[in-house]
Amino acid sequence: MKLPFFLAKRFVAGETFKSAVPKIEALNKKKIKVTLDLLGENVKLKTTADETVNEYISLLNDIHSAGLKSTISIKLTMLGLDIDELYCRDNLYKLLDEARKSDSFVRIDMEGSDYTQQTIDVFKEVFKEYGKHVGIVIQAYLHRTKDDINDLAELGADVRLCKGAYNEPERVALQKMSDIREAFKEYSKVLLDKTSYPRIATHDDELVNWVKDYSVENKIGKARFEFQMLYGLREETMEQLTNDGYNTRVYVPYGTMWFPYFKRRLMERKENIFFIFTTMFKK
Ligand code: FAD
Repeated sequence: MKLPFFLAKRFVAGETFKSAVPKIEALNKKKIKVTLDLLGENVKLKTTADETVNEYISLLNDIHSAGLKSTISIKLTMLGLDIDELYCRDNLYKLLDEARKSDSFVRIDMEGSDYTQQTIDVFKEVFKEYGKHVGIVIQAYLHRTKDDINDLAELGADVRLCKGAYNEPERVALQKMSDIREAFKEYSKVLLDKTSYPRIATHDDELVNWVKDYSVENKIGKARFEFQMLYGLREETMEQLTNDGYNTRVYVPYGTMWFPYFKRRLMERKENIFFIFTTMFKK
């Protein structure tokens, strides 16, 4: 059964690029940049992965022609990682060729822990060739991140740090919020100290304030990093951060395959579920 789109519209900007454009323009007008995510994951057919690469390429062109301040975020399982890693890499090369031509940027989102190693391997491979046009995401809750973060910082990678959105077992990931927050702070420190432009992705005031304080104490200018949040969450906070002189970017998902993303947002916060129920009655 397909749920009606109006349920997801708090978190998803539209089912098509065209319907998302006004929302992106509104954010850009407030000096908030965007990263666009064509929703979907775990593609099993080459024909679908091929279509997805073409859609991503069109998206880069559409962003450019519409003059939007937006990069794109992609998932390797959308490019065929479940089918064959080499095939997925070739697809990513195709996309990055286009990104380089339009001087754009492609962020590789991080998926569940079964994909972490492959995602890092693929990233390292393409980073050698596409440098400033490609970035990766690191999840603070994973135990392995204490090694990955230093490795990627040393490489000079462009890293988005987030807590991690997937249900991971104890042997793989920290479970307690206080532990995840401490790890997030430790890894923010590594990125702020060692990389040129870290992206701090969280809605958590404790972490946002910690990063602000750390940057002031260590004379790290506001132009040296960026705060990122998800579409539909904490818009006023984003506006405030922007007005206070911080660089900000909103992750804007769109597309018809919105259910898994929507479900993750609901699982994260009971207030989000409450919001959906009130939306249902307000329709
Ligand atoms: P939470 O842990 O959900 O909440 C912590 C505290 O923050 C709350 O108790 C509350 O005080 C405050 N808070 C949170 N939300 C709100 C709100 N709406 N209003 C008011 N207060 C609030 N995960 C991945 O696994 N892979 C990715 O590639 C990935 N990319 C991401 C990109 C961006 C830009 C962002 C923002 C997140 C991304 N995530 C990704 C999701 C991330 O891993 C977390 O699951 C998600 O951000 C929830 O953690 P949090 O720190 O934002 O807040």
